[in-house]
Amino acid sequence: MSKKKQLLRPKHVPQRTCFVCREKRDNRLLMRLVRTPEGTVVVDPTVKQHGRGAYLCDQPACWDKVLANGRLLNQALKTTVSEADLAAIAAQRPAVSKQAEPHE
Ligand SMILES: [Zn+2]
Repeated sequence: MSKKKQLLRPKHVPQRTCFVCREKRDNRLLMRLVRTPEGTVVVDPTVKQHGRGAYLCDQPACWDKVLANGRLLNQALKTTVSEADLAAIAAQRPAVSKQAEPHE
């Protein structure tokens, strides 16, 4: 007897909550921002970096809010993000959302 049946079930996609719009989304539609042990804040595409993390969805509007107001990020990560870090994060801002559904 094998337990292969279990593998046929739909794969569970972990959900994460965007710290700006508070909407739950599939893991892969969010970017992880992490406060590194060195105190910098970086985008973590591998989602494996150590440190306190916060998830930001791929809606440009959410990124704009964060980039316009670093305090959002400071609160989420309990840190003070530097201008340089914010500029580096800005460079990763998605131009369009991968999601097809309109957002209201
Ligand atoms: Zn969002």
